[in-house]
Amino acid sequence: FSSVSTVVQRNPSFSTLNPDDISYFKQLLGEKSVIQDEDRLETVNTDWMHKYKGSSKLLLQPRTTEEVAQILKYCNSRRLAVVPQGGNTGLVGGSVPVFDEVIVNLGSMNNIISFDKVSGILVCEAGCILENLISFLDNQGFIMPLDLGAKGSCQIGGNVSTNAGGLRLVRYGSLHGNVLGLEAVLANGDLLDMLGTLRKDNTGYDLKHLFIGSEGSLGIVTKVSILTPPKLSSENIAFLACRDYSSCQKLLMEAKRKLGEILSAFEFLDIQAMDLVLNHLDGVRNPLPATMHNFYVLIETTGSDESYDREKLEAFLLSSMEGGLVSDGVIAQDINQASSFWRIREGVPEALMKAGAVYKYDLSLPVEKMYDLVDDMRTRLGDLARVIGYGHLGDGNLHLNVSAAQYDDKILEQIEPYVYEWTSKHRGSISAEHGLGLMKANKIYYSKSPETVKTMGSIKKLLDPNGILNPYKVLPHSLNS
Ligand code: FAD
Repeated sequence: FSSVSTVVQRNPSFSTLNPDDISYFKQLLGEKSVIQDEDRLETVNTDWMHKYKGSSKLLLQPRTTEEVAQILKYCNSRRLAVVPQGGNTGLVGGSVPVFDEVIVNLGSMNNIISFDKVSGILVCEAGCILENLISFLDNQGFIMPLDLGAKGSCQIGGNVSTNAGGLRLVRYGSLHGNVLGLEAVLANGDLLDMLGTLRKDNTGYDLKHLFIGSEGSLGIVTKVSILTPPKLSSENIAFLACRDYSSCQKLLMEAKRKLGEILSAFEFLDIQAMDLVLNHLDGVRNPLPATMHNFYVLIETTGSDESYDREKLEAFLLSSMEGGLVSDGVIAQDINQASSFWRIREGVPEALMKAGAVYKYDLSLPVEKMYDLVDDMRTRLGDLARVIGYGHLGDGNLHLNVSAAQYDDKILEQIEPYVYEWTSKHRGSISAEHGLGLMKANKIYYSKSPETVKTMGSIKKLLDPNGILNPYKVLPHSLNS
């Protein structure tokens, strides 16, 4: 855990659990939903990367909004700190306790409440796993407007709370646009019913947006209403190779122009990312095996006319090859090949995990500048570590990862604050889609002005005066205790 540069002190105003608390929770939730078993606690105390670890002694698994409300009301009155937890796939140390916070996991609240085929509006509980929602909608002829590599574990409540971006944002936009309503419980147990299903509703402040992306620091999201697009009949995926970053960039501009309305994903990975995937994931093969290329781009199109869409993509590929933007490329011939292309891109985080220690940075930057940072980091780090660049090029979102055999302060010193300063200088964001969590709570000023952060602090104070919800995360420590 030496990579966790954020050193925080336990807030002394928080209580510690006593036997009466446990009795209260058992009475409220039943024995089975009050978990003190050490093995299970070990799992929920540790994040996906095995980088952040808390020492909570209690996991609660409510089944209804009312139970969530009672838990928070009690914890607030007792000054017991709480970590809301979904699928625990977050990458910034936000989903696990820092000390002994009570973990409230939403996994048992996994019912689909309604689906309206005319409007495409899905209403469900926050603990629904994203992949289950994707399968449910598939049967109805619809898709989720978001998709991400962690879909098998992450929950819609976690997605909303992190404002997850993912692989389809380039087409369908962010959750701020797609989430039509939500239900959330405040720290004192008050219930905010904002579970609207309307496309348009300008009545007063649209408070749901405060909960989209606030990482469990303002309330627990218990239900979500989300607009889902129809599943279109034709889907094509091309896996392409580019000589240099400038070609990837020009390819993006061309794809937006020439594929236009059917473009649904534009992802990239560099040679280092490809090398990691090929070496660390079983059964993954390079679809362009003749030689290793400096960059790979995955383009997905979805549309309603199979032959027109396919022709369009083939013509685009041909002209990109003739124009020298693409050195090699292949279009998936069937669904298995399509999934094998996605497996490469989605497998990068897993391959990085398997390769050893990883320092992850999730940055929004102007597309033309984005890869300069990767090159700069390679120069700075030399032989100390491998630098990997990949991500959602279509959204200007770079995942900069530094991979090494083990965590080492010498490596961290070369990365931080350099990466944050570089991003700030180019008016980028130090958190494009993963949030701030514990990792970047103190770094917020690199992307937000002091006045903005102060206003965030006032909102936090208003909604959670005792600061019990996900303490030490999101906001800088001066505003967090
Ligand atoms: P958790 O990890 O459990 O929690 C994340 C944060 O949300 C925490 O701060 C937690 O306190 C809070 N939270 C969780 N549930 C609730 C709730 N119901 N109410 C209030 N607060 C809550 N992210 C992207 O944006 N795009 C990607 O493409 C992407 N790809 C990924 C690929 C892999 C392999 C992995 C491991 C992660 C990836 N992520 C990505 C990060 C992560 O999956 C997302 O942030 C996801 O939305 C987290 O959902 P979760 O249910 O796992 O939440």
